[in-house]
This record gives sequence, C-alpha cells and structure tokens, in this order.
Amino acid sequence: MSDSKSTDLIHHPYQAPGDFESPVVPVCKGSTVYFPNMAALRQRQWVDKSAYTYGLHGTPTTFTLEARLATLEGAQHVLLAPSGLSAITVVNMGLLKAGDTLLLPDNVYNPSKDFARHEMAAWGIGHRLYDAMQPESLAQALDETVKLVWLEAPGSVTLEFPDLPALVRTVREKAPQAVIALDNTWGAGLAFDAFALGEGLGVDLTIHALTKYPSGGGDVLMGSVACRDTALYEKLAWTHSRLGLGVGANDVELVLRNLPSLPLRYAAQDAAARRIAAWAQTQPQVARVLHPALPDSPGHAHWAALCRAAAGLLTLEMDPRFSAAQVDSFVDGLQRFRIGWSWGGPVSLAVPYQGGAMRKLGSPYRGTLVRLCIGLEAVDDLIADLAAGLARLDGR
Ligand SMILES: *Cc1c(COP(=O)(O)O)cnc(C)c1O
Repeated sequence: MSDSKSTDLIHHPYQAPGDFESPVVPVCKGSTVYFPNMAALRQRQWVDKSAYTYGLHGTPTTFTLEARLATLEGAQHVLLAPSGLSAITVVNMGLLKAGDTLLLPDNVYNPSKDFARHEMAAWGIGHRLYDAMQPESLAQALDETVKLVWLEAPGSVTLEFPDLPALVRTVREKAPQAVIALDNTWGAGLAFDAFALGEGLGVDLTIHALTKYPSGGGDVLMGSVACRDTALYEKLAWTHSRLGLGVGANDVELVLRNLPSLPLRYAAQDAAARRIAAWAQTQPQVARVLHPALPDSPGHAHWAALCRAAAGLLTLEMDPRFSAAQVDSFVDGLQRFRIGWSWGGPVSLAVPYQGGAMRKLGSPYRGTLVRLCIGLEAVDDLIADLAAGLARLDGR
C-alpha cells in the first residue's frame, strides 16, 4: 500500500478471475473504456462491433442484447436507441436528405407522422401518405424522389392488416431506389418474418419499440433498428453515433432479463386478446371488434396468409349511439383496465380514440374506438370488468 489510499482505491491491483458465468448477462457500465496502449486506441473498431472504444459505441451488455434481437428478428445487425420513436427518427435522419420524399401509411404510429410533418418538413424532406390497404395507393405515391417507404402491420389503433408482400413488391418494381422499413413492434419478431415475407421478398429494415413486449414490464423505454445488409447497417450506425444516441446499461439488463419469457408472454397475451375479442363481438354495445384474427376485421386474409400469432391488442368500435363522453365514462369506470399509453406490460390498458378523426385520407370508422391492450391478468376478470362497464353504458 502506498501512502495515498485515494490513488490505491482507484488504481487497485486486484483483478477478479474472469471466468464467472451465470444465467445473467453482466451489466457492463462505462463511458470511458480503457485501451491497453496507443496502438489499440488507433486500431479498435466499434462499427463492426469487434472491440470497445467508448461507452456510447457499445459494451458487452449492449452487444449481447443486439445479437439476441438480431436472432429474434432474423436480421444480421441491430442498433439500440433510447425509445421506439428514436429508432424511427434515426432511420429517417440516416437515409434522407433535402429533396427526398418519404412515404408513410395513413394508419402509421402517429408520432412518426408528426416527425415527418415537423422536423422532416423543416429540413426540406417531403412526405406523402398512402392507404396501406390499397397497394394501388402506394404505387401512385411512388416516384424517383422517394427514398424511404415505411410499413406498419397492423395499422396503429385500427389494426387493419395490410398485404405486406404486395406492398413490398410494389416498391421494388416502381421505386427500386427506396429503402423499405417496417415498424414491427406489434409482430415482435414472433408473429411473422419481416425479412422473409415470401420468395426472395422482405423488408430492408425493421424497428421495434422494445418498450412494449420485449421489455414486458411497462418500465423501460428503448428501441431497436434491425437489418441484414451491412452497408445499410453501417450508414445507420454512423448516423446513430453522430446523433449521440445511447441506452442505459440497467435498462438493457431489464430487456435481457425479460427476453426469454417474451414468446410465453406474447402467446398468453395473444390467446387472452382473442378470447376477449370473440366475447366482445357478441356484445350489443359494440358495433365491431377490430382484431386481425377475426374474419370480418380489415385485412384478416392478409394476416391469415402471413402470421403465426396476433399479439394482445384489440379495438372496440363502439355503437355510434354512444357519445364520446359516454365512452369516456365507460373507460373511467373500468377497474382492471388502467388508462394509459403504450402496451406490452402486465397491466391491461384502455384508451378511447375518435374514429372519424384518425386518418388524413378518410376514415371508415364511425363513433368512438376503444383500444384495449391485454396484460397478464386472468381473462375472466378482464371480461367481467368490461361486461360491467358495458352494462353501465346502457344504464344498467
Ligand atoms: C410504442 C410504439 C412506438 C414508440 O415507442 P416508444 O418507445 O414509446 O417511443 C413506435 N411504434 C409503435 C407501433 C409503437 O407501438
């Protein structure tokens, strides 16, 4: 021991043996990463993930989550972002420049539209909306300025399931210069294979809100971008790095911890949502139930042709005789369903939306919609809660 305990506590000679193994991935923290010498500092590479250079560029913990997500998605490369929305915005910023156009389905996750309307527009990047249920509408929106086409399946809130192979084929034929990106949060890498939609057909990249099913706890915000092509990955990785996007090691730990139970949770929430959807269809206060596995839900045939599963979301199109205020009090009165954004956690959630105001290209939905995300409670308790709420709506 030297005289200086402060120095010794920092530059301590003890090295724990390196062969510790347990089911848990170590939480490696560090902004600074040490280099053994200057040659290492000059040579080390983070873009190909062959080494560590700086906390923002990856740690064993983040590289491990990225590798597991790549397996889940059938991709080669994954980047982590601080939220699902930031995964969307880093793709837009990485792939578009002034004069380019991006296309969004009219039923896309709404903040994605807002980003295009505000930031992208201010930077001279145009956007157009298309009707995802009409491949012809996408074909008409394509021209040589389109460099990025977003897909989402199913649509946000209204859950229409598009003909993904037809949409991808349309872009490949009419706008081969465009990158095709899919928001695959609903599918979670489990419902269908985004990179293998058919013979030689797949999207170029996907994003996920890991906030939802992969986290599973309602307590983490994180996103991911996944792709197969190395050049596309490197382009996005440099943008990601220049934007300074990082994720916290403890949040990565939570996602790593919950990932092994993802298929089980997803299957349970899928089964529960289908039971609730089938029950809700028989209720006189509900005009229609939107859930892609129901035969009369928009795009059911496309869902059936592509998917193995259906997540835990459904939307009730309430009978138009109920006012928005009445539907608000139906939601207020629910006991098990809490009111809140997001989904994928253990707690069931309900949020009302005005059907007619949802879409720019015209909405086929009348009255008020109630989006339900099903958690992990006993299904009978959730049905009893909804049944009591519907009875109150009818003044019973
Ligand atoms: C929640 C969600 C996002 C955004 O994720 P955040 O982590 O909340 O930013 C993006 N797309 C879809 C489809 C989502 O459901």
